[in-house]
Amino acid sequence: MPLPSSSPYVIIGAGIHGLSTAYHLALTLKATGKGDGRDIIVLDKTGICAGATGIACGVIRNNYFQPAMRELMAHSVKIWESDPKSYSYHPVGYMQISSESMREDVASIFEQQQAIGYESVFVEGAAESERYMKGIFSDWQAQGITSVLHEMPGGYANNTRAMQGLAAKAEALGVRMVTGVEVTGMALDSAGAIATVETDQGRLDCDYVVVAAGPWVRSFWEMLELPMTIDIKNPATGESAQNVPMWIFWSLQEGTLGVDPALQVTNDGAMPPVIHVDTDAPLYSDADCRCLTEDMWGIYYKPDFHFGGVQGGAAPFIVNKSAEDVAVDPYGPASPEFVVGAEFAEMWVSALAHCQQRFEGRLPEFKQEPSGGIGAFTPDSFPVFDAMRENCFVIADSNHGYKMIGVGELVAQTICGSAPSLLHPFRFSRYAAGDLHPVSNSPFPWS
Ligand SMILES: Cc1cc2nc3c(=O)[nH]c(=O)nc-3n(C[C@H](O)[C@H](O)[C@H](O)COP(=O)(O)OP(=O)(O)OC[C@H]3O[C@@H](n4cnc5c(N)ncnc54)[C@H](O)[C@@H]3O)c2cc1C
Repeated sequence: MPLPSSSPYVIIGAGIHGLSTAYHLALTLKATGKGDGRDIIVLDKTGICAGATGIACGVIRNNYFQPAMRELMAHSVKIWESDPKSYSYHPVGYMQISSESMREDVASIFEQQQAIGYESVFVEGAAESERYMKGIFSDWQAQGITSVLHEMPGGYANNTRAMQGLAAKAEALGVRMVTGVEVTGMALDSAGAIATVETDQGRLDCDYVVVAAGPWVRSFWEMLELPMTIDIKNPATGESAQNVPMWIFWSLQEGTLGVDPALQVTNDGAMPPVIHVDTDAPLYSDADCRCLTEDMWGIYYKPDFHFGGVQGGAAPFIVNKSAEDVAVDPYGPASPEFVVGAEFAEMWVSALAHCQQRFEGRLPEFKQEPSGGIGAFTPDSFPVFDAMRENCFVIADSNHGYKMIGVGELVAQTICGSAPSLLHPFRFSRYAAGDLHPVSNSPFPWS
């Protein structure tokens, strides 16, 4: 559809956050008598799911060391559960399986899950953990595991199918999607509010803008004239680290083993929970037995008919460039710079074989098609969800966000005048105030 010259609400980005905000804003405007879906337009320079959302593994879990993250995820899981068909949601559960260095962290996650009523089972001790895992997969063989957290809710969703379902729900409420339009700037008025969104196809007057641009957030930060470096107060010492870069890119490492997904069913023949293992047990190559690492490593995996195999990933690594020098386009598998290579395939498949005997000798079946992509991370690797201008809300999820389908509902409530407490811990001012999230011992930046 052609670009109109104005719209009360403009949402930039048709990934999970843009689409969820559009759908929930349409519902909230109607419920509060302030308008309806016809007041909302979603702009995307490419199309629905063209960014990180379209390549996400789609894992949905609660397992976070940070209480604020757990509460937010519990809220999102309820939304996934509210319409599993439209959201292509598979509630198979999720398991965090860890070596001793993480046992205390995971024990505290379990305790707090009990406190918020999130159903999970916690198993401690090497023998007990092994027995529990063999009860699910008879070929379980990972060494050095001393705890298992089994979350009953959660699981995964088929990434693009779920977004088509969400977009259809928004469009049924009158939301318009305009794709193939690139936002190039924002005209700010003298008070710093956005008056007009500039695009490669003309200008769009608006009352409120939501930026949900995923890995492209840095460009919007620039358009909004926000600081590229910030000061972060250390709550323990009261001193501030100065000029910390606001954005840093990480390269996500994911791939698919091209086996029949049914290879990974449980002892009962059922679809299994998503498996996540973090361990310091030495990892040996399944190809030639040499030691790949003696440091802490982590992987996750699940059988997935959408990806056509057993799909998953390993810990990401930092892109060693300043954010302004990182080419976000072409994005994802289209970028030769950021796709995974033979090293990832060997590590990840060897790790699968370390955990389950059924994956031994399967390295040649790793799919050679390009996979992986980059994410824009904040200084503490936790989201910034905040109104960064009087009439502009920025959703910058620090690459946590496929699972966070509920953030759009909370943003819609904020736009319509309430202040949901679940978003408060993710305000931008936490850095200057030193009101930071606790840090875990996980090898992943988002745990
Ligand atoms: C390989 C990989 C695996 C992942 N796996 C998981 C997982 O299992 N679970 C999980 O919870 N999270 C996962 N994530 C993270 C998750 O995918 C992202 O956090 C989330 O999808 C971000 O959603 P978004 O809506 O903010 O951005 P995106 O999905 O990136 O959408 C942003 C949109 O903005 C558009 N856009 C950008 N610039 C402009 C512009 N100037 N004008 C108009 N439109 C513009 C883009 O075209 C894009 O469609 C993964 C990420 C990656 C990269």
